[in-house]
Amino acid sequence: MKASPLTSTVDFEKEGVQHGYLKAPYSGDDSAWGAVMTPITVIKNGEGPTALLTGGNHGDEYEGPIALWSLTRDLHPESINGRVIIIPAMNYPAFKAGKRTSSIDGGNMNRAFPGKPDGTITEITADYFNRVLLPLSDYVLDIHSGGKTLDFVPFAAAHILEDKE
Ligand SMILES: [Zn+2]
Repeated sequence: MKASPLTSTVDFEKEGVQHGYLKAPYSGDDSAWGAVMTPITVIKNGEGPTALLTGGNHGDEYEGPIALWSLTRDLHPESINGRVIIIPAMNYPAFKAGKRTSSIDGGNMNRAFPGKPDGTITEITADYFNRVLLPLSDYVLDIHSGGKTLDFVPFAAAHILEDKE
């Protein structure tokens, strides 16, 4: 399959704390040579499992992004063994617009998997998660809430996959 056009400004193998971006090339009305820059934080301390923490899969669900951006400031390498990858707003165009779906392509991130490397911005992002970030991860926590149209009773749902692939 074609390589992802999305690149990361962080090194997933580097020790310590890095704040950077996932960069997806995007030529739009505001910039012919523009990019969608999705914030990412990687915190690593030695060997151990990897946790991938995501929010803003739907851009109008603010609870996850608020909690995860707070965690990017408060979590320090010395308090973990292994690696934590934090992406507070997966669908960053949707998050910036305060919308459930992408302001660029209308994409619903949660319905875009496994994604496409030559697809829309939402599909390109989903493909990067599917082929790059998920294989790095032992645990994935994707935080949702009700957004503009629902009220959720607080709960957690977990899936243990028999076949990691
Ligand atoms: Zn959601």
